Amino acid sequence: MAFGKMNKDKIIEDFRDMIRIRTVSVTDPKKLDREAYIAFRKLLLTRFPNLYREADVFSVAPAGILYHLRGQSAEKPSVLMAHYDVVPVNAKEWTHDPFAATMEEGRIYGRGTLDTKSTLWAIVEAVENALSSGWRPKNDLYLSFGGEEETHGETTANIVKYLKGKGVRPAFVLDEGGAVIPEGLPGFHQKAAMVGIAEKGTANYMLYLRGKAGHASTPPKMTAAARLAKAAVRVSEYRFPTRITSPVRQMFSALAGETSFPVSQAFANADRLAPLIGAAATFAGGSLRAMVKTTAAVVILEARSAFNVLPSEAAMGVNLRLLPGETVESGAKHLQKAVRDKEIQVSLIDGTNPTPISRTDGPAWETLRKVVGEVWPDAAVVPYQLNGGTDSRYYHEISDYVYKFSPMEMTAAERATVHGVDESISVRNLLRTFVFYSRLLEEL
Ligand SMILES: [Zn+2]
Repeated sequence: MAFGKMNKDKIIEDFRDMIRIRTVSVTDPKKLDREAYIAFRKLLLTRFPNLYREADVFSVAPAGILYHLRGQSAEKPSVLMAHYDVVPVNAKEWTHDPFAATMEEGRIYGRGTLDTKSTLWAIVEAVENALSSGWRPKNDLYLSFGGEEETHGETTANIVKYLKGKGVRPAFVLDEGGAVIPEGLPGFHQKAAMVGIAEKGTANYMLYLRGKAGHASTPPKMTAAARLAKAAVRVSEYRFPTRITSPVRQMFSALAGETSFPVSQAFANADRLAPLIGAAATFAGGSLRAMVKTTAAVVILEARSAFNVLPSEAAMGVNLRLLPGETVESGAKHLQKAVRDKEIQVSLIDGTNPTPISRTDGPAWETLRKVVGEVWPDAAVVPYQLNGGTDSRYYHEISDYVYKFSPMEMTAAERATVHGVDESISVRNLLRTFVFYSRLLEEL
């Protein structure tokens, strides 16, 4: 393993300095701390001189930074992704200053220590270190860093547009996503490295119902507000079709290879057991259900007038998480069917379709498996489908090999601090992420 002139204290200080820069992404551009964004990009350009010298560096509006390291061949380019924006904090709830990067008992505390300045840091440190020991990539390598992931900005879409325009077809893309789960999964008592190979879509709809205005003393049987409330219950109870998508099937069979009877029997027969698993999923109500169904959340209900006036319009906002195979349009049809009221108008506000499913039958997947296996020899590599969205969804347009995996161990307690309170990472874990990327670079 090429560790070059790596200085552990120096690289940990780099990480802490990244955490100290308050790149908090907010939807209101007036509240954005532009200075922090500039400072972060400046840190990248000044602390990693080999990378700066060897790579072409592009700023991609509004908040992207793209490095291009030329390899001996441009035929099978790879892309390593991360984002440097973080979600806001409620500092009062934290036991440590969320932007001080306090180190205590082998842990570093701060917003972004897990999501995901850690992977960004590990990528640039690994590349910098490898370059300093004479390494050059076999194939073209791009580092694709966004600053608007948390607010669904257009940075990464713009980076992909740029690459597409240059005819770049990545043979390997790695972004945040799953992680190494030390405690394993239910019925599967082994470490699992969860690698996302597809993402559900997400779409927001408004449903409108116009009623007759009038005095509340002579109401119709149901006001617009009451009818829409009934529709809200119907949307919540609607049975979206259950489907075992390819990523979920692959997840079951990866687990089947590792687990013991009788769970393995159930997983190994996932195809025939699909209806049963679907029923179980409905009962579970948790993430298994979300894996095999489109889910609906009624998030807005509006109908406002005065106590003595009938509301002339009622509106409801629904967020759908669309299973691969559905689209934002088919989601609207499901909603129209769910409400059983033809006068309710369903209109799509915004949304993204589910991603295509990345391939797991080629050298890209084998490379990832191999390197994960070397760094976490006791973990099974398990493909799965993400419920949430990452910036890598844009890359599916130009690559069939987009993997969503944060190469670090995250316990359930640690995962709960992502977007939450007291986000922190152990130095040991952080250094292992660095080792992962260092090892990966040798393969790219
Ligand atoms: Zn993230």
